[in-house]
Amino acid sequence: MNDRVPVRDDLQEVRPYGAPQLDVPVRLNTNETAEPPPSAYLDEVAARMSALQLNRYPDRRAIALRAAIGGTVGLTPDRVWAANGSNEVQLQLLQAYGGPGRKVLLVRPGYSFHPLVARVSGTEVVEHDLPEDLVLTPEGAAEAIATHDPDMVLVVSPHNPAGTVLPVDTIRALHDSRALVVLDEAYVEFSDDPNRSVRLLDELPRLVLSRTFSKAYRLAGLRLGYLLAHDWVVEDLRRVRLPYHLDSLTQVAGEVAVEMRKELTTHLVTTADERDRILDALLEQPRVTRVWPSAANFLLFRTDEPDLFDALLDLGVLVRDFSSAPGLEGCVRVTVGTPDENDWFLRALHKVLGG
Ligand code: PMP
Repeated sequence: MNDRVPVRDDLQEVRPYGAPQLDVPVRLNTNETAEPPPSAYLDEVAARMSALQLNRYPDRRAIALRAAIGGTVGLTPDRVWAANGSNEVQLQLLQAYGGPGRKVLLVRPGYSFHPLVARVSGTEVVEHDLPEDLVLTPEGAAEAIATHDPDMVLVVSPHNPAGTVLPVDTIRALHDSRALVVLDEAYVEFSDDPNRSVRLLDELPRLVLSRTFSKAYRLAGLRLGYLLAHDWVVEDLRRVRLPYHLDSLTQVAGEVAVEMRKELTTHLVTTADERDRILDALLEQPRVTRVWPSAANFLLFRTDEPDLFDALLDLGVLVRDFSSAPGLEGCVRVTVGTPDENDWFLRALHKVLGG
């Protein structure tokens, strides 16, 4: 008799999601913000946490937090939902609107967690291949909708790993269907017009925006994500969420993050400047054969050096390796770090590639 119970048949091929967490001097592989949040934020969180009654369950509906988040974009709390990272928001959306017998449309190449979480939720994945510039056109969107007739669409803007922005007309073309159209906007605060999609919510009733405190807010360790949508989506998600899915500590830390969002996001200008500085250096490097224009805090580029990832790692720099991903052959993605980290990365790149 076997000691082990076989995992579900449809999970046999699934590998746990996650980039390497290595102890190296310069970690530029998971798109976090390099500078920690200011101590004033941590002090305020500590003060508010000490006043919590942890013997009691948290507010199951996280109303104060949802009202605070909604207030930043002019939406009432019934149009805001929060969960344990935006990844959990996406799982809950798939549980509510995907599942057995339903299809989710993804683009390829894309954010590799999405096909995985779709599979875990039992949703069938249908994929549309992006052109070389990694931007889904309205025509491409219309074709994908006509081919697959999905129940749900899950697309990322700015795109991960390229950082490219999805055109508004493409969002409209995806919505010109029966599907729930979920825009994963994990990096939207780094883009030129973060409220562009919020303005689309009134025009597009099945549009859902998924956002996070992990990136621009510098709080990846907190695990807090949210969505903005119409109230019926929030109603439906309450059917699938765990009874007290968002703990009191996270709720309080999130409320303080909203109150102190200016202080938490002071780095946005420097991050964009540093991204442009890295971009210029990449464009000057003869062995870099392509760089995608990025509206996020990272850059995807292709070189003719097959061992770039390992060579950079030997020099103390961890980037994200996409060199064997379909459609991204020869590519790595580098997160914008502190100016010193970026210098280190550029020196290492120069050492490996010459030029
Ligand atoms: N969406 C995208 C496109 C991401 O790149 C990431 C971070 N890897 C996430 C969501 C995860 O966000 P969170 O930390 O809010 O779960």
